[in-house]
Amino acid sequence: MIPNTFDYQRATSLDEALGLVGTPGTKVIAGGMSLLPLMKLRLANPERLVDIGRLAELRGVRQLDDGRLAIGALTTYDELASSPAQHYGLIRDALPDIGDVQIRNRGTVGGAVAHCDPASDLPAVLLALDAEIVARSKRGEQVYAADGFFRGAFETALADDELITEIRLPGPRDDAGSAFLALSQRASGYSIVGVAVVVIKENGSAITQANIALTGVGDAPYRARAVEAALLGNEGTPESIAAAAAHATDGVTVAGDIHADSEYRAAMAITYTKRAIEAALGRLG
Ligand SMILES: Cc1cc2nc3c(=O)[nH]c(=O)nc-3n(C[C@H](O)[C@H](O)[C@H](O)COP(=O)(O)OP(=O)(O)OC[C@H]3O[C@@H](n4cnc5c(N)ncnc54)[C@H](O)[C@@H]3O)c2cc1C
Repeated sequence: MIPNTFDYQRATSLDEALGLVGTPGTKVIAGGMSLLPLMKLRLANPERLVDIGRLAELRGVRQLDDGRLAIGALTTYDELASSPAQHYGLIRDALPDIGDVQIRNRGTVGGAVAHCDPASDLPAVLLALDAEIVARSKRGEQVYAADGFFRGAFETALADDELITEIRLPGPRDDAGSAFLALSQRASGYSIVGVAVVVIKENGSAITQANIALTGVGDAPYRARAVEAALLGNEGTPESIAAAAAHATDGVTVAGDIHADSEYRAAMAITYTKRAIEAALGRLG
């Protein structure tokens, strides 16, 4: 439980940090909640840690002029819960069950997104909200759509020399219903299956938009496009929801581990997708 030796450098500005990332053997540390356990288990052995944890410019949540919300990468779960982000039903649903008080006090939004644990909750929420992930490097700014960013287990679209600076969310919609439901591991809170749903009925009774994202099921959190397509245009009857939810794992290699074998996990993915859609429809204004 003792990491290998490493050099430690605390960045005092974003520019300084950007000058240090991308060099071989260098890893960025924010809250350290995911990285430090890996180092203690010697599954990660960086030669140098660049600590970005005190960069004030990466902290906080602000409303943009066009109504979108910008969440600084160093914003902790706890800070997020009392920020304007609480107006997003999905964030209100998901946050209380992430980790424990310590994790929520130190774990950052940017760290969770960059780490891309296959069972991480926030990426599914960001996928369902059509979020954007903003990254900076010495080469400039790059904006990634959440859909496509989470590429595999612990693998994202982020280049080696890029740092996540903020997450942008489209403004919350009053006419949307949303829900995040998860079957969680008792000890850690990580999702065995987690489902984030946003639904909209624009012109009356038929569903005109459905964003459905799952976590804990495959290599990485993903949008369940076949479920979304099956929901469009129907009224959300119990039969049509069940038929749509049956596609929750289409095209995904379902994981099996000590918490749930792949058959059980696949069944739970369908069950929780169905329940989350029902809950989201029940919350439509
Ligand atoms: C006991 C325990 C329980 C947990 N339970 C849950 C849970 O229920 N649900 C859940 O979703 N998560 C859970 N987590 C994971 C937790 O959400 C993450 O550990 C945390 O959010 C990571 O943020 P951090 O700032 O601590 O990242 P760090 O550990 O500092 O970094 C993680 C990785 O991201 C990189 N990184 C960090 N910031 C940036 C940045 N701005 N730009 C680019 N790369 C960056 C680092 O280099 C590293 O590779 C749990 C973790 C633990 C230890």
